[in-house]
Amino acid sequence: MTKDDRSYNYITIHCQYEEGNYISLPELNKRFKEYLMVKYNLERIPRDSININSILAIDKRFVHRRVHICKHCHNIHLKGCCNNYNRIERTTSVRIINIGYKQQMDDHLHETLNQTCIALEDLKLENKQVRE
Ligand SMILES: [Zn+2]
Repeated sequence: MTKDDRSYNYITIHCQYEEGNYISLPELNKRFKEYLMVKYNLERIPRDSININSILAIDKRFVHRRVHICKHCHNIHLKGCCNNYNRIERTTSVRIINIGYKQQMDDHLHETLNQTCIALEDLKLENKQVRE
């Protein structure tokens, strides 16, 4: 197993175990590249792809799976998944299963939210005073 620290770091910082949820590999790669660009101050999108073995090494419950997707309803391709189901009209998606993004707020958003809460509290207080 190759241990890729950047993939490992990205996943441990941004993702967590989440039963039944999944993230597609192309999406994970896109986010990983964005992360590398910010972290290393890169001007171009890096060629590096996320290392699947590194992801799987983080949590034994993460599963790497290739699934067939119905071209019509975009759910798992199963007989009768939708009215347009057709045996051959399917596409393939590679996913990591049982994974989700950690809820993260950047500082600016956090600040804005705090101010909004304070403003709301003030408003409630004012309303209360008016009524009394
Ligand atoms: Zn379908």
